[in-house]
Amino acid sequence: MTQFTDLGLAEPILRALSEEGYVQPTPIQAQTIPQLLAGRDVVGIAQTGTGKTAAFALPILHRLAQNRVGLERRTCRVLVLSPTRELSGQIVDSFKTYGRHMRVSVALAIGGVSIRPQASKLSNGVDILVATPGRLLDLLASHALQLHRVETFVLDEADRMLDMGFINDIRKIIAKLPAKRQSLFFSATMPREIEDLSRQMLRDPARVAVTPVATTAEKVDQRVVLVERAGKSALLADILRREPIDRALVFTRTKHGADKVVRQLVQKGFSAEAIHGNKSQNQRDRALAAFRAGRIKTLVATDIAARGIDVEGVSHVVNYDLPNVPESYVHRIGRTARAGAEGIAISFCDGEERAYLRDIERLIRMSIPATDVRGEPQSTEPQSQQPRSQQARPPQGRPQHARPKQSTPARAGRGGHSRKAHRNDRQGSDRQKTRDRRANSSYNGEIATVAFMQPSN
Ligand code: AMP
Repeated sequence: MTQFTDLGLAEPILRALSEEGYVQPTPIQAQTIPQLLAGRDVVGIAQTGTGKTAAFALPILHRLAQNRVGLERRTCRVLVLSPTRELSGQIVDSFKTYGRHMRVSVALAIGGVSIRPQASKLSNGVDILVATPGRLLDLLASHALQLHRVETFVLDEADRMLDMGFINDIRKIIAKLPAKRQSLFFSATMPREIEDLSRQMLRDPARVAVTPVATTAEKVDQRVVLVERAGKSALLADILRREPIDRALVFTRTKHGADKVVRQLVQKGFSAEAIHGNKSQNQRDRALAAFRAGRIKTLVATDIAARGIDVEGVSHVVNYDLPNVPESYVHRIGRTARAGAEGIAISFCDGEERAYLRDIERLIRMSIPATDVRGEPQSTEPQSQQPRSQQARPPQGRPQHARPKQSTPARAGRGGHSRKAHRNDRQGSDRQKTRDRRANSSYNGEIATVAFMQPSN
């Protein structure tokens, strides 16, 4: 098994890793680091939670350590683009942690806070700049930054950039980069537009792929509770009381919904905070810090705000609303399976969300045991054989590219395993997991038997 010491990383980096307690590279790190150290471009299919930040941060730091040059004013040597403020902040923290025994300057450029301190930090030039696309364009427009000295460019969470409407901003930024550079491209999924962008951006890239999105789902104990919309608030309070919860991350589809859930929880005597795009950066930071420190047990978030939240010890994810983009379900429940940990994900599904549930089950290629609010097993099969177009569908549409496709990693075949055989395997291990859970959780004690369904095709 590869160790970090086998990879040829500079001594100050190895020292920082050893202080962090990292011994073995994760699979994405073991595959990516040698390629990047050799100077190649890389396209990596990996999601948050696989160790992908260190997969690019460590070789970047190594190359900076090997090649010290004076910094030019208002430039950076490494540019990392990430879709959200939270994720950008975490990437900066990672560079600082792994580079703590090196002299390396790291700057953060995100929206929602004043641009002036960011511009002044860039005035003498920095080694590494981590930015969200909008703020980066503002800095370029105000001549606080130029990109002609970029040696390494990282585009992180490219599929999320597309979802968030950043794709044109990214094209503009790429057009300003020097042609001679090393480029890294990370994405959890590869819809066609993202594949096209990667082809434009990279030069003969090495392809690395780990942990197809579906397998994250396999580490998490998942349940669905079929509930009327009006009953969701009482059900959430019930779960927070009954479950052995360390930290619960509750997802809603809208910002307004997140605030409403927090108000209802506070009225019922729970400590909870919301984190979403209408909150200021300070409010978000404070809520996250309180959640991390255990001062609040419940954080209510929207998908975009939660992107990149890296909090260890999230024991439960509750999907108060099911997401209309099935990949978001996998990202959400992945918050409770950080760095190999296991967790519990409970999803509320009302009548209008059944179609979303079917899309999710198709994507993760497993059926999720369902009960009613009393814990009685329920079937979630469509009730009649009507054509799909006439079955209940929630009102909002979903972007075309989010439809699960055969080509996404989540749908990629598993060598030699037929889908049906895989499903049967999953059902066996799901049953075992359910038995284990019943022993550990009072809430699960109510689930007498669990109905397993074939996902409809
Ligand atoms: P990421 O996918 O970059 O968000 O990383 C997920 C989590 O795994 C972070 O909390 C990292 O600190 C942690 N991590 C990354 N690489 C390793 C490693 N090789 N050994 C132990 N923990 C790691």
